[in-house]
Amino acid sequence: MAREIIDERLVGALHLRALTRKGLAHDPVEEKTVYQASTLSALMEGRFEGDLTLRELLAKGDLGLGTVSGLGGELVVLDGEAWLIDGDGQVLRPPLTTTTPFAVVTPFRCDASLPVDEPLDLGTLARRIDDFLGDPTAIVAVRLRGRFRELVVRSVRAQQPPYPPLLEVTAHQTEWELPEASGTVVGFRFPDTMASLDVPGYHLHFLGEKADCGGHVLALTAVEGLVELHLEDTLHVELPAEVGLGEPGVADRAGIRRAEGKET
Ligand SMILES: [Zn+2]
Repeated sequence: MAREIIDERLVGALHLRALTRKGLAHDPVEEKTVYQASTLSALMEGRFEGDLTLRELLAKGDLGLGTVSGLGGELVVLDGEAWLIDGDGQVLRPPLTTTTPFAVVTPFRCDASLPVDEPLDLGTLARRIDDFLGDPTAIVAVRLRGRFRELVVRSVRAQQPPYPPLLEVTAHQTEWELPEASGTVVGFRFPDTMASLDVPGYHLHFLGEKADCGGHVLALTAVEGLVELHLEDTLHVELPAEVGLGEPGVADRAGIRRAEGKET
């Protein structure tokens, strides 16, 4: 049975983010939560079997990302629907009984937005958002509908037990370059102090407008569109029975960067 916990250390850190709310359209009484199934460290170790169904996941949030049991592709949650980009780049509607070993979702509401009015590569886009928010400790959910070019996405092929470590799987990931694409980028920015729990920095997945392409974003240039941002109060981490929380901030950072395709 999974058990739900709220870690005091994280909650303490996250409440600092109230400082970033100034000037943003925000209802202070509305409770906001990022909900996460398991941890990135557990996924890195090859714990690819989940016990949370997509139906349960979608009850916790309508925007997010993750994967499915066996690591059978990249999951995108958008407008309350789950999509899976498999290792061949096919976009599927997975049954809601499918389980996930790692996913992050939130009930998305736009607190602040930034127009994309000139082409921005991924690094520049990230810095624009960082500068706009001004607080590197905040958890931020991102939704960017728009037009893109030089989009590089990846997915992974389903694994059979005994599962290898994540790095072995991503060493054989499939990558595609989409010269032009319209669609939505969804994801999160997590602070570096949470590196054992989640991908520090930006973790973004893409779904094409006609749900005809997508994947885990390795590179892109946003040509036009609107970046919508949702700031969070709380992280709920639901841990499978055999997974520990670990020490927030203590993680194999170099390994995470390799697994998630980050250059720096
Ligand atoms: Zn991903």
